[in-house]
Amino acid sequence: MRLYFSPDYVAARHAFDTTRKAQWIVDSLREAPIPGVDLVAPAPLTRDQVEAVHDPAYVRAIETGEPRHLSESQGFRWDGALWRAVLASNGGVVAAARAAMEDGVAGSLSSGLHHARHDTGHGFCTFNGLAIAAKAALAAGARTVLIVDLDAHCGGGTASLIAGDTRIRQIDVSVSPVDSYESTDQCRLAMVRDAAEYLPTVRRMLASVDGEGFDLCLYNAGMDPHEKCAIGGLAGITRDMLAERVQTVFAWCAKRRLPVAFVLAGGYTGPRLHRAELVALHRCTLSAAIRMSLLYGQA
Ligand SMILES: [Zn+2]
Repeated sequence: MRLYFSPDYVAARHAFDTTRKAQWIVDSLREAPIPGVDLVAPAPLTRDQVEAVHDPAYVRAIETGEPRHLSESQGFRWDGALWRAVLASNGGVVAAARAAMEDGVAGSLSSGLHHARHDTGHGFCTFNGLAIAAKAALAAGARTVLIVDLDAHCGGGTASLIAGDTRIRQIDVSVSPVDSYESTDQCRLAMVRDAAEYLPTVRRMLASVDGEGFDLCLYNAGMDPHEKCAIGGLAGITRDMLAERVQTVFAWCAKRRLPVAFVLAGGYTGPRLHRAELVALHRCTLSAAIRMSLLYGQA
């Protein structure tokens, strides 16, 4: 299974989980490999691919740093390496989407960056990898793309970017109202306030699009619903539940022979969630993806 990563993913000077954890996971894979995972460096995005989704003035601001109100609109200090980092990490999402269409399953150790909007960053997200990859998959021959966003927070940026393009659908199960939006038939949003409702809601949302054919699933596999996660966590959501969620999504895709490309999305260290625990949570996604890739290989 191709898993995309390059050292440029973590090139931005601003250090927090989203700009650093890809390296933590690569370090962990070097120490304790998951058989079948092939780390591959993606081609960086081209300007045209970014501008298929984002306003050229905003794209220029990320490249040059000016004006600051745009280049730092995602919420952190701009630096000269940010451009290289976001082209590489979002390039990984596009590469994973294309690899999944060939192999059945692939992933990128980057985030979906689902809060980024057309002409501005938002919520620590610079460019929206999910929307960029969905459009790139359509350009590469997919007729319809399903985005399954299970990050703790709502994917309001993605919803705004795909609105009106009915070839792309989104189902979104969130445990935090951050970046919420009006649920529509195209972008279905479910809010969960009680951990006991979490897995049943994920299953219900998947079932709600059961009868529809898709050519690709983009899975925003956030681990921030975990109860110990300082940003987004919901009491009662455990590692076992998140592992079951991951298995549920991959099994649902496998049953339909629906290719799936996953990205890490949210998951934040803090006083109650240490780095090793966060890495272990994201490794649940990698292990389940490998099981699915074996199913595809055997068929
Ligand atoms: Zn999140």
